[in-house]
Amino acid sequence: MTQHITLNQINTLPHAQATALLTGLYEHSDWVAAQALDERPFASAAALKHAMVQAFDHAGREAQLALVRAHPELAGKAMVSQSLTAESTNEQTKAGLTNCTPEEFAHIQQLNASYNAKFGFPFILAVRGPRGSGLNKQHIISTFERRLHNHPDYELAECLRNIHRIVEIRLNDKLGYQPELGHEVWDWHEWLAQFSDVGVVNPKAPHAAREELTVTYLTDAHLKCAHTIELGMKACGFDEVRIDAVGNVVGVYKANTPHAKTLMTGSHYDTVRNGGKYDGRLGIFVPMACVRELARAGQRLPFNLEVVAFAEEEGQRYKATFLGSGALVGDFKTEWLDQQDAEGITMRQAMKDASLNLRDIPKLTRNAAEYLGFVEVHIEQGPVLNELDIPLGVVTSINGSVRFVGEVLGMSSHAGTTPMDRRRDAATAVAELALFVEKRAAELNAVSADKAGKPASACVGTVGMLTVPNGSINVVPGRCQFSLDLRATTDALRDSLMHDVVNELQAICEHRGLHYTLEETMRANAAPSDAKLQALWEQAVKSLGVPVLHLPSGAGHDAMKLHEVMPQAMLFVRGQNAGISHNPLESTTSDDMQLAIDAFMHLLHNMHA
Ligand SMILES: [Zn+2]
Repeated sequence: MTQHITLNQINTLPHAQATALLTGLYEHSDWVAAQALDERPFASAAALKHAMVQAFDHAGREAQLALVRAHPELAGKAMVSQSLTAESTNEQTKAGLTNCTPEEFAHIQQLNASYNAKFGFPFILAVRGPRGSGLNKQHIISTFERRLHNHPDYELAECLRNIHRIVEIRLNDKLGYQPELGHEVWDWHEWLAQFSDVGVVNPKAPHAAREELTVTYLTDAHLKCAHTIELGMKACGFDEVRIDAVGNVVGVYKANTPHAKTLMTGSHYDTVRNGGKYDGRLGIFVPMACVRELARAGQRLPFNLEVVAFAEEEGQRYKATFLGSGALVGDFKTEWLDQQDAEGITMRQAMKDASLNLRDIPKLTRNAAEYLGFVEVHIEQGPVLNELDIPLGVVTSINGSVRFVGEVLGMSSHAGTTPMDRRRDAATAVAELALFVEKRAAELNAVSADKAGKPASACVGTVGMLTVPNGSINVVPGRCQFSLDLRATTDALRDSLMHDVVNELQAICEHRGLHYTLEETMRANAAPSDAKLQALWEQAVKSLGVPVLHLPSGAGHDAMKLHEVMPQAMLFVRGQNAGISHNPLESTTSDDMQLAIDAFMHLLHNMHA
């Protein structure tokens, strides 16, 4: 039987002996662990992991490249000649790489060669994967093929992140530690992901098929998800579980006293088309796991905990974004009921078919006075945490936003005969505007630079649509339609960017002799986190021994709706693959999920009723 090491040994043994305990974590590079040990004592294994990441980050590019190059090729010569380290042999065997068909083996060798020729270092992938139980061969090969197209700088960073993930799993093994609750919650996401509107299982590639996930409001798959969450909540030990009049699944775990206030949490279970498995759902399953642990231990809180799995957030089947959370704040718009989906089915009909009682919708509005507030756990859906190798982030504000659609009108004319100084080109005007948006947002971010002098990502602006209707290759564009999406951490900053952009549009059109129209289609106020709830998240993250990183949310979330009536604060969980979201590549590890569960539990135990 393997002898496990303990955190106490790492913290207390002489430096050389402690280093020896950590040998093999970084492939042929024990110096990383040795340097990290200067930061002893560690409050947790997560703190040790972070110290190693830091030591490695500070080592510089040459040392990092050397470490990358110390790794064996995937299913390469070292594996065949059995000269891999014990750790690598274990990992490559678990992934089934020692058991390739001759065709697979030849394909991997070809990938190794192309990869090495492009990047000059071997491909590194944590083949034990986000759950630590091993990726399958198809998954490994498709990841290899995909990453071959990355930019070299990005790919080096991706290799380094994979090295840290390999080390995380190796350290878990050494400590004899498993993120048990994280694994379970990870598995719950897999289980729920079996229900999808499209993406029928392909028997030849079951894994690939499972990756495609679309769950839109009140479809068959959506109803199955609701039912599954309902059963899950009952199994976790919630005292009350119900599906409400708009399809939200609501579970209540009662307080230890009557007439107690309620803390609300939750997120959405619908998805975008071909989305990820964790967007929304993580914020449902993390508190469900906490309730199950509380119920198992027979513990009650001094407040009721209400977990809501929101039926609709993404606005996919109907243009009714935040329908689920909107209904709780009295913002269910009755005109939504007459909207039709792509097949002509009205929302009213879809709700009737799902046996939802429309008359009960107004009753869903919560009395904010009965609530302590709303907290939400969500996968980050952005690259910040992944890039900094930090597992959790405390959200300071959900960005305010404003959207416009517009059109610039000029004069269509002959591309060959109209001199350059006599053109009324609508498309170049919009191009100029798009460049201005980019420049102005960067300037505003530089002004609000953080203490370290790094420009903050306080505002962002995007011209996402730019169309020349009926354009031709030989015609100067006479019309150009475009969209504007401007977001910022505060309403004041958003408005400042907006005014500058609108003024610039006017100036560009005057200068070029053009007209324009501009229609505001959406405006949402920024939702700054409640100071007290945010502080609870900070303490929770700190208690885990990992750094407390503050960041704004660039995306909208259900918390934004609840913000209209009660205080709120969010916790972000690092996403893998540069934090990609609204994409099947969205991913997070069971280790990070475990940290989110631990943080949530800490918040529950430190919240005053
Ligand atoms: Zn979401």
